[in-house]
Amino acid sequence: MKACLLNAPARIETNPLQFAEVAAPQPARGEVLIRVRACGVCRTDLHVIEGELPPRKSPVIPGHQVVGIIEKQGEGSGRFALGARVGVAWLHHTDGVCEYCRRGEENLCDDPVFTGYSVDGGYAEYIVAPQDFVYAIPESFPDEQAAPLLCAGIIGFRSLRLSGIKPGERLGFYGFGAAAHVAIQVARHWKVTVYASTRDARHQKLALELGAAWAGGTFDAPPEKLDAAIVFAPAGEIVPAALGALRKGGVLVLGGIHMSPIPSFSYDLLYQERMIRSVANNTRQDGEDFLGIAAEIPIRTHAQIYPLSEANRALNALKNDAIPGAAVLRVSE
Ligand SMILES: [Zn+2]
Ligand SMILES: [Zn+2]
Repeated sequence: MKACLLNAPARIETNPLQFAEVAAPQPARGEVLIRVRACGVCRTDLHVIEGELPPRKSPVIPGHQVVGIIEKQGEGSGRFALGARVGVAWLHHTDGVCEYCRRGEENLCDDPVFTGYSVDGGYAEYIVAPQDFVYAIPESFPDEQAAPLLCAGIIGFRSLRLSGIKPGERLGFYGFGAAAHVAIQVARHWKVTVYASTRDARHQKLALELGAAWAGGTFDAPPEKLDAAIVFAPAGEIVPAALGALRKGGVLVLGGIHMSPIPSFSYDLLYQERMIRSVANNTRQDGEDFLGIAAEIPIRTHAQIYPLSEANRALNALKNDAIPGAAVLRVSE
């Protein structure tokens, strides 16, 4: 099969993904083989490729927002019919036995396996995944619309949940890429007022088109104090600015898997019961709940399509903030 291989971490400007012919995987017991139709491009892929996350497998095929068709079932893998359209997300599987899995917090599993990082992902014509961690994709979404829902969408949704935001409240977004452009649609559906702070004018424009009450630069103070804010941009210097925009008791959620160091700041910014918390992965329940709501709203993703062979170009564009919405690799029809 054709796939994009990362042999060693390197800056994306050096186009490190190698478009190559490799052996297609075979489904083991409990797994399904999926013929990939589309795969979303996520900032986490950049963190994997550029080595900000320590390498787990080499070479590795990145990609963890995979939409495709079940082509073969491993032994005991009859949960989905052959030909069913399914999705594979970042959480490839968990051990199911650690303290966190037993507490219903499988997103925090002590021994997790991640798609496109610790095992091969969806920048390829085929992928295998455990059937229990695969999602049914609602019929109403075309492939390239569905792909960004599987990480950007689910993580944005979990970030919204952890923010505790309620109808009628004010929510800030810092950074307005793939996750925020989906999360704003859920927030608006919940009658939340959204303020978008982002350095890129195209992203500010998209935020306003999607119903933001205000859009400004990353460090411009929103016109109202915020009940909660979510930082999607991987830049630690945003944290003090976002804290400064919160009302007393407000919640700041950090939505990324990687962030540059957070500068020290005055305790006054945190005092008055403001809270900071991070988001790590998601549970399968988050994914199921989100895909249901996404179909009901319905969410519309703005997808910029690239062929599989041009994954390096898509990732360079993502790094340069040149993607309004989400980048998606079209792998097959
Ligand atoms: Zn576990
Ligand atoms: Zn992701």
